[in-house]
Amino acid sequence: MSLHLPDPLAIRYSPFATPMFRVFDLKQMGYCPRLAYYAYCLPNLTIARPPLVSLGARSGQAAEALEHRRSLRAYGLREGKRYFQVWLESESLDLCGQLDLLIETPDELIPVDFKDSLEHSPGRRVPPTVYRGWAIQLAAYALLLEQTWDRPVRRGFIYYIPTRRARQVEITDALRDEVRAVLAQMRAIVEREVMPPPTPYRARCRDCEFRRFCNDV
Ligand code: SF4
Repeated sequence: MSLHLPDPLAIRYSPFATPMFRVFDLKQMGYCPRLAYYAYCLPNLTIARPPLVSLGARSGQAAEALEHRRSLRAYGLREGKRYFQVWLESESLDLCGQLDLLIETPDELIPVDFKDSLEHSPGRRVPPTVYRGWAIQLAAYALLLEQTWDRPVRRGFIYYIPTRRARQVEITDALRDEVRAVLAQMRAIVEREVMPPPTPYRARCRDCEFRRFCNDV
């Protein structure tokens, strides 16, 4: 793949000067909608890295997964062409992102998202839990692939690096609708520039790098 991929965490703008949301933002919205507000309405608030994810960690994930993924067995596939770190963007969705792995078979395109968080490690022999936010991210990649590669996407996989296991996620209409709903929520936040309420899960605020900007938690 190209050595000049865009920074997956940089905010990009469409030709109409509206922000193109990142697939990363969908997960952030699930964590706390204020993260989208800070990213797009107050972009000059600088922190070392957005919470939850660092680029270094992402490269580590990709590198480690590349190391471990020499066959398609984990996905139950016999054949398929693999593309790593695939950049995808769509102006009609106002969405972009870098997919860890795309598998192309004669019948379908299959997005794969690598995860390596130790916090979720359930043990080496157990397939990964698929959190709703992860499934929504996969569905977002599916929508992007359908738009940009013009081929249907029926399923994707979460590849869980600590266990070297993959779990299939069906890309249902409900998941697709959730992606569109979260994108609409983000659009509303950006257009109205009104700070959303804090996450109801206040334990999340403890480790959040934006905490010093939230005066009500
Ligand atoms: S400190 Fe809490 S409310 Fe504020 S952005 Fe972080 S998670 Fe959200």
